[in-house]
Amino acid sequence: MNPQPPAPSLPSWATWRQRPFPDANTLLLHGRQPALVDSGFVGHAEQTAAWARAHAGTVDLVVNTHWHSDHVGGNALLQAYGAAIAAGAPEAEAISRRDPGCCVAEYLDQPVAPYTVGLALDDGQILRLGDADWEVVRTPGHTPGHLALWQPEERLLVVGDGLSDYDVGWVNLALDGLDAATTALASLKRMADLAPRVLLPSHGPIPADPTAAFSTALRRAQRLVDDPDGAVWYGARRIFAFALMIRGGIPADEVEPYLHARAWLTDAAQLLELTPEALAAELTATMLRSGAVVLRDGRLHAAADHTPVAPDALRVPYPRAWPAAAPPR
Ligand SMILES: [Zn+2]
Repeated sequence: MNPQPPAPSLPSWATWRQRPFPDANTLLLHGRQPALVDSGFVGHAEQTAAWARAHAGTVDLVVNTHWHSDHVGGNALLQAYGAAIAAGAPEAEAISRRDPGCCVAEYLDQPVAPYTVGLALDDGQILRLGDADWEVVRTPGHTPGHLALWQPEERLLVVGDGLSDYDVGWVNLALDGLDAATTALASLKRMADLAPRVLLPSHGPIPADPTAAFSTALRRAQRLVDDPDGAVWYGARRIFAFALMIRGGIPADEVEPYLHARAWLTDAAQLLELTPEALAAELTATMLRSGAVVLRDGRLHAAADHTPVAPDALRVPYPRAWPAAAPPR
């Protein structure tokens, strides 16, 4: 077997931190305006902030690729320490008006601590992060407000959940419409056309071969377009696994009642023309069979590598109960 080729190297002013679930990977950009791209899950906000401060001293700006809980969970704490938060315009506006759908937190049952966004980002906008200029590239699909960040001199591309070394981001056909998969595919093509030297995904390692990662992702994204039912199943598996991870598993006899009460499951069942009960049972059974979920000590656990979360950390209000946003500075 050939040894894995090494990942392409990053410039000295960029520090990458690969993190297991439930935290997205983090990129710290050093310089006169230290910046952090994505801030992990709320349960690990202290570690995220401590790591960023240890490496950069202060963080002036946090940029979110999108508002899912594993990317924005450290925002509140970093903001309390003085960082500004930047996010794609549609998400920034929804956060400012405290839309109950913010972060898809309630829908997905994924807690996020309240934060405000001071800088709404549009396509083509140039952002100074650290000492380098980055271009905002709107890449809707995984969420409508998803963005990538492009650094043309070093040819670095932060892709968020657009793709990873092994997969593409799931798409939310129930909330974002059946076109979401087509939108995600178009965004993926746009990112591939930039031909980055280094591709920085939010989950898993930096791909050794960005071109190969894009061709795998494009095939996978095309399948999500061609097979909407498959796309719904894929999303359901990802959401359920995440729910198990942040709760340290769920007691086996509570799993089905938990699932039946979830909006995402009810919507997925409707798209698949199943009852919520049938979908919950089939989802659990297929994930146990594939080994994605395991039964241990009377609880169902996600099998994928993940870091434990303290139960107290989940006790944050859903966005509908967040305090009003402070006016922009
Ligand atoms: Zn995401």
